[in-house]
Amino acid sequence: MKNVTTRKRQLKKLLCLLLVPLCLTFATICAAGAETLTVGVPTDRCPIFYRDDQTQEIIGIGADLMRSAAGNAGYDVTFVQIAEPTLKEALDNPEYDVVMPFGSAIFSAAGNATAVSDNLFQPPFTLVTKGTRKLPEFNRLKVGMLRSQGGVAETVRQLYPGIEINMYETMPECVKALREGRVDALLHNSYVWSYVLQKPSYEDLTIQPSAMFTMDFRVGTPDTEEGRAVIERLNRGIAELTETRRQAIALDYTSRKLYQYDFGDYLYQYKWILLLVGAVTVLMILITIQKQRSIRLRHEEKLEQVVNTDPLTGALSMSGFRKRAEELIRAHPDIPYLISFNNIKNFTFINDSLGREAGDELLRFWAAKSMEHLNDNECIGHITADRFAILFQASGDEKIVQDIRDVGDPVRNYFIDRGKETPVRLCSGIYVLTPQDYQEINVDRMLDCARIAERKVRHNRKDGYEFYNPDQWQKGKKISDICNHLPNAMVNGEIRVWYQPQVHFETGKIIGAEALCRWNHSRLGWISPTEFIPLLEESDLIYELDCFVWESVCRDLQRWNGQGKHRSVSVNLSRCDIREDRNIPEQFAGLIRTYGLTPDQLRIEITETAFAENSDLVIRTTVQLRELGFQVEMDDFGSGYSSLHMLKEVPVDRIKMDLHFLADSGNPEKGQIIVSYIIQMIRSLGLSVIAEGVENISQASFLQSHGCSEMQGFYFYKPMPVEEYEAIETEQ
Ligand code: C2E
Ligand code: MG
Ligand code: MG
Repeated sequence: MKNVTTRKRQLKKLLCLLLVPLCLTFATICAAGAETLTVGVPTDRCPIFYRDDQTQEIIGIGADLMRSAAGNAGYDVTFVQIAEPTLKEALDNPEYDVVMPFGSAIFSAAGNATAVSDNLFQPPFTLVTKGTRKLPEFNRLKVGMLRSQGGVAETVRQLYPGIEINMYETMPECVKALREGRVDALLHNSYVWSYVLQKPSYEDLTIQPSAMFTMDFRVGTPDTEEGRAVIERLNRGIAELTETRRQAIALDYTSRKLYQYDFGDYLYQYKWILLLVGAVTVLMILITIQKQRSIRLRHEEKLEQVVNTDPLTGALSMSGFRKRAEELIRAHPDIPYLISFNNIKNFTFINDSLGREAGDELLRFWAAKSMEHLNDNECIGHITADRFAILFQASGDEKIVQDIRDVGDPVRNYFIDRGKETPVRLCSGIYVLTPQDYQEINVDRMLDCARIAERKVRHNRKDGYEFYNPDQWQKGKKISDICNHLPNAMVNGEIRVWYQPQVHFETGKIIGAEALCRWNHSRLGWISPTEFIPLLEESDLIYELDCFVWESVCRDLQRWNGQGKHRSVSVNLSRCDIREDRNIPEQFAGLIRTYGLTPDQLRIEITETAFAENSDLVIRTTVQLRELGFQVEMDDFGSGYSSLHMLKEVPVDRIKMDLHFLADSGNPEKGQIIVSYIIQMIRSLGLSVIAEGVENISQASFLQSHGCSEMQGFYFYKPMPVEEYEAIETEQ
């Protein structure tokens, strides 16, 4: 028995001795068999292959499936990101044992055949479009794909030969191409879409569920013996991969909230709020800027007011006066302005004898008194110490004296009125603004002129005022007397139309008359047209007078027509009447319509200078007048400088030859030669001629002998009132 037990113990020992090394050998073999496969994968397709944010490891559905299958086949796997742009190129890199995923066996970029594994799983591929749209069939489709999906693209091309695939580097580029209509749809696997389309700014993209197909998901490696062995072994592992395991892996990744918002996504997601915040911020900034600006403006205004106002008197300071005067002159070119420079001759004495405070009181009183008399278009400035400048409107002579007295007398008597015996000696110089001063406004220069006039008063007289430019003042007064009075003069009969008959020398018959206006001014008496016509032309009022004259002439012609006397009258048309905005020909046509006249009854005189100054418009007017049947005459021919040129250019009917230069000429013979040739020339040009200013029989005979029989002049008749003209006409 003892022997049996001992033998059993020995057997056990022997078994142990045999099994331990056997187990150790098996363990060693097993350990040595778990080889590591380096798997090259792309990492830009979450949730298939991507990097874990925390660990930076490559994970995803594809990674887990591969790890499981490889594990089943006894492999460990290390995933590395492919450095190549496409899987096709990665196949040629010997650093990877295998590369994935492939839909089918393809050739590597270098043209080597590939061995691919069995299918690991079948991810569905879907098209994504912009909005919902009906797509053409696959074979005629234009799709966009990521360049890294070159392998898939190749498989798709094999499946659908007619398809056009455009490759893009990134998903945003793919989406841009889709939005711009360069492709009909984008193609990728559905798992990737489920991730990508979470991006807020891709909300306009839609999955096309109808256009779905599956693609295999395989491992590939160069078709070598070694490669095929790896694939075979992997296939065994893939075969062991249960459907449940596959589903579990896919579910695990698709149920995770993988999409992570980047800055752009937040911007897009909260764009309205951001816009609102932005708008509010901008508004706040604008309000702040505006507020600051208005504070600054107010500050500047205050500062300007301080600078422009004299604190002692409340009048403007020198700079304030200069500015305001300039503004007023610019704004009112129609107001005849004067600038005065005023000074107190004995101010030093006043200060010394009555004290500075009394002097200041006087200045304050003077400023206040002047301001009482000024209107809004006038201003006063305290220049220095006892000097004031005033810009005021010119009124009549008497008014000025009155104004100066109204302000001046209380100032002069300021101390006397307060029981002291000191009179204030006020000296003023006045400058009358000329038309040029309104063009080039220089207040300092005007003040300098006024100062010169003031100095003259100060040196020559006790006090008072003096004009710097009395001629200008006289002219200004005349303009105001004439221009301001014109409307009244026309209605109250001060202005009348007179007629100067025109005769045929041989027959002595009156062949017409020139209408000339006469003004018997209520205050100035008879004034000559040579005086008031240029002033009215300068003030742009001549048109009003001329319309009045034309109308009066038409009324007379109408009356004569009624008496069976069909007469013609020449009327003057000033060069200032002819303007683009006044249709002069139409106006004359209207006049003869209104008064029932025929156009031959009005002859229109336009001076030679008018043709010279504005020839285009004047010639156009002449042509139109003649087309309407009026006769046009060139007035004062021979008094200007461009007569010969005018003769050639201007389409008139009759020339009115001016004889004044004949009379004034120092050498009458030469004058006669010129006149005789002028007549000859006019007649050769086929124009008729009338001589005006014929004063004696010898002139008349001379003109007659040289072929000019129509004449107008004092030798025959002077201009006369209408009643006289009617009388001599009837006598004939
Ligand atoms: P004008 O059109 O050349 O008129 C002729 C001027 O010569 C008239 O001067 C007339 O009185 C004057 N005259 C006529 N015969 C003689 C003469 O033998 N010797 C001299 N020394 N003078 C003579 P008036 O009426 O003083 O007119 C001067 C100018 O004023 C006119 O020259 C005309 O250009 C203009 N005028 C007159 N009335 C009007 C009018 O109603 N409208 C316009 N726009 N201008 C007018
Ligand atoms: Mg005339
Ligand atoms: Mg004339």
